[in-house]
This record gives sequence, structure tokens and C-alpha cells, in this order.
Amino acid sequence: MTAFDFDASPFTIAWEVTRACAYKCMHCRADAQVRRDPRELDTNEALALIESLARFQTRPILVLTGGDPLMRRDLFALARHADAQGLRVALTPTATALPTRMRLAQARESGVRRIAFSIDAADPALHDRFRGFRGSYARTLSGLRNAIAEGLPVQVNTTLCALNVDQLQPMAQMLEELQVVQWSVFFLVPVGRGKRLPMLTPQQHEEALQWLADLSSEVSFDVKATAAPQYRRILRQRARRSAGAGFQFADGLSRPHEGKGVGDGRGFMFISHVGEVMPSGFLPLSAGNVRSEDPVAIYRSSRLFSQLRNSGALRGKCGRCEFKEVCGGSRARAYALTGDYLAADPSCPYTPSPAGTPSRVRV
Ligand code: SF4
Repeated sequence: MTAFDFDASPFTIAWEVTRACAYKCMHCRADAQVRRDPRELDTNEALALIESLARFQTRPILVLTGGDPLMRRDLFALARHADAQGLRVALTPTATALPTRMRLAQARESGVRRIAFSIDAADPALHDRFRGFRGSYARTLSGLRNAIAEGLPVQVNTTLCALNVDQLQPMAQMLEELQVVQWSVFFLVPVGRGKRLPMLTPQQHEEALQWLADLSSEVSFDVKATAAPQYRRILRQRARRSAGAGFQFADGLSRPHEGKGVGDGRGFMFISHVGEVMPSGFLPLSAGNVRSEDPVAIYRSSRLFSQLRNSGALRGKCGRCEFKEVCGGSRARAYALTGDYLAADPSCPYTPSPAGTPSRVRV
């Protein structure tokens, strides 16, 4: 496995190629709209951006996301250019009628290495409620099977909140049958339309992460917790070296095996549909715009990104925590709930241990 220097390069770049989307998901971070924003980066700007991102040289994963990226007619040209530039391309289409087998074949031929679909519940009616569209569940399974039929590895993303926490167990069974390569469970950050959804309590948060850690040793797919870096603390507490240790994907999108975990602005950057560079899609603070600034320089040198990579800048109990290097808390959730992106993550029940005493979790 490769050790990454997160000060020099992100491991993953998520690029919101458009904010347009036919769905109205309850938890949409982007508050996506039906029509494309005329201020979106145009094709020439998008191609130039890809060339800038390729200068990171460590071949970051470039996730083409939205909105619904399939709403852009130049999507496969962008994917092809990114692949040719050495970026490792993944795609997160919305499960409308667009991800047909033909389009997914085009995606694969353009260099897309992995497709991620969102499933928020094993219960079709509950999933459809989350997505704001009756029939979404069936469309998702259809798109997912189209991708597998085209030989594309499939990842499933699930946004977890108090409304679907009881779906974890049936979801795990379903994903095993669907032969996905990874389950990425996004712990709700209350931004965009997600502000209206009930979050898990800190106790539920911890219990869900413990359950996922148990699951990770039982299933054939990789288990990833997103916006929940406490997962790495839990794996450390279970005496495992780091999240995802040992899981290697044939599509080349394996997570780095490193001491520090990927977090907002630390191994991760987000580029909005209008070119704003942010530490994460869930942390809507811009450190600059690719239309006027170099995204590589923004990632490496901006005050915002530099602060987020400095665990010594953390405040509250995250600043005192012996796990701050591997965890550090969700900076996006800290910002969403306190207005301070360096504050303690309110979703974590862990009590940092004074040196020399056993640590504990209050649940
Ligand atoms: S206190 Fe902060 S750094 Fe420590 S485990 Fe909790 S969220 Fe992570």
C-alpha cells in the first residue's frame, strides 16, 4: 500500500460537475435543482481544471459527482480526459432512467473505474421517501445491475440518520447479495436539505460505528464510514492499524494505508459546480476558486486547508484527544453544529484519557 503525504496531495477529489438533478432527496447536501446552473464550469474550463488536478502527481481519485453528473452532455469527454491525465475516475450517477447499460458501457470505455449508487434503505418505500421519487429503489437496482453487467465495480452510498438506522442490518444482507465492492455509510451532516433530518445521537453514532466495525470482518465488501472519522478511533481501539487495512480493490481505488486518516481538507478536497474549492461538500467554506486560482496551491497552502491538516489547531476535547491524528472529528459536523470548524465534533461520545489512564466511551 502507498503512504500518502496529505500536505502535498489529496487522496480523493470530489468534483460536483453539475448541481442539476431530477431528484429531490431529503438529505441533499447540494440542495440540487432540476436545471443546470448557467454559472457551471463550461467544457473548456472543466478540461483545464482536470489538467490542473493532474499536477498533484499522486493520481488522486477523481469522483465525478453532482447533482447528477449524467446531466452533463460532456461528462464522458471529461472522464476520458481525466483518465488520460492519470487521474483515477469514479462516477456517482443519480438513479434516474439515464444510467442505461449503454451509458455505463460508455462510462467504462471513458476510463471510469467505479460507479457509486445511493441506497438509503433495504425497504423500497423508505428509500423512495428519502429520494423523493416513487420507483427510485427499482431504478437504483436496475442501474446497479447494469453497471455490474458492464464489469464496473459498484459502491453503495447510504446516508445514515435517525430515520433509517434500523435499516443497517437488512442493508448489509442486501449488499452481500448484490456483490458490491464497498459500502460507504455517510453519517448525516446537517447541511443543505439534510438540515431538516434527525441526526443520530452520539450514543447511536457510536453504536452504529461499532456495528460497522463488527460487520467489516464478516462481509465480502469493504466497509467505510464517511463523515465519521471516529470509525478509525474504534478500529485503533480494536488494535487494528487503520480503516480499510488490508482491503485491496482490483479497480485501483483502495484507500491509503496511513497513520492519518482522510478527512475534510486532509487528503480530501471538493470542487463545486462553479469552481469553489472546499475541504468537503459538507463543509461549505471556500478557500478559492479554480477560475482565478490554482487548485493545487489552494489545497497545499490556503489557510483553511492548512488549518484543517494541523491537528494541533483542534479545539475542545478533539484537541486533547489521543486519537486526534487518526480521527480529529468531523470538521464538517463541528462547523454545521457549532459554527467553528476547529471545535470538537459533537457527535462523539468519547472522553479523551488523561495520559496514563484508560480511555472510555460514555454510551
Ligand atoms: S474526541 Fe474528537 S478526536 Fe477524539 S475520538 Fe472523538 S471526535 Fe475523534
